[in-house]
Amino acid sequence: MGVCLQGGEFARKVKKFGKSEIVVGGMETQDEKILRAARILADTQTLMVFTGAGVSAESGFPTFRGKDGLWDQYEIQKMATPEGFVQDPAAVWEWYCWRRGLVLEGKPNPGHYAIAELERSFEDFLLATQNVDNLHRVAGNEKIVELHGNIFAEKCTRCDFRRWSEEIYTEPPHCPKCGALLRPDVVWFGEPLDPKDVERAWSFAERADTILVVGTSAVVYPAAQLPEIVHARGGRVIEVNLDSTPVTLIATVSIRGKSGEILPKIVEHFKAIS
Ligand SMILES: [Zn+2]
Repeated sequence: MGVCLQGGEFARKVKKFGKSEIVVGGMETQDEKILRAARILADTQTLMVFTGAGVSAESGFPTFRGKDGLWDQYEIQKMATPEGFVQDPAAVWEWYCWRRGLVLEGKPNPGHYAIAELERSFEDFLLATQNVDNLHRVAGNEKIVELHGNIFAEKCTRCDFRRWSEEIYTEPPHCPKCGALLRPDVVWFGEPLDPKDVERAWSFAERADTILVVGTSAVVYPAAQLPEIVHARGGRVIEVNLDSTPVTLIATVSIRGKSGEILPKIVEHFKAIS
């Protein structure tokens, strides 16, 4: 039934309802969607970017969920829960050090660099990521909330000691202050997010004009609420993902594709028109 509209005719079919653009009928090409995303950014003062594993998958990092995910249920229980750590801290540290090694050898991809470019383009900007791999920082992002922690952060299992370390350990490290075991400062299954991170991300979402959601299936609550918060206030939601997700239903524009290919194009158009 759909009628394929071209160029100007398509543009006339896009009507503005307040801050949201509703597309009336027609099939939009990927290039048209990219242009529309760029126009939304050009009309944005306060930008939030929300990323997940899909951004890093293109840097060659395995994702830990989904059909190509590395973990089976047994491994998740063992490697990413407080109980698993108590049972076998050496195995957990071996796993995290293996991942540290991957990250230290890896590089951000063009998607990471495009997001860093957006931070430089917006005074009022926040990146919230579910990734622990540090690649957004390597790419140049500084206004960042790492909702699930960082693979190079460590904290004591007994006292308040925390540190940054890029060491690859052969034995589980101990706290220099109290001698107890150190653990990776990441959020494991069954653990709550850090309330300070939640407050920073959620309060920013409450006032963001636009949220750009990249490479996340957006099914892990509470983080998946961020696009909903922006949408509920009439803000725009731009989604870039290989597959459709629950966010697609509320997205102002949803683009299927690799973030490393789509994001640089969006940013290029945005910079050309802003
Ligand atoms: Zn300690």
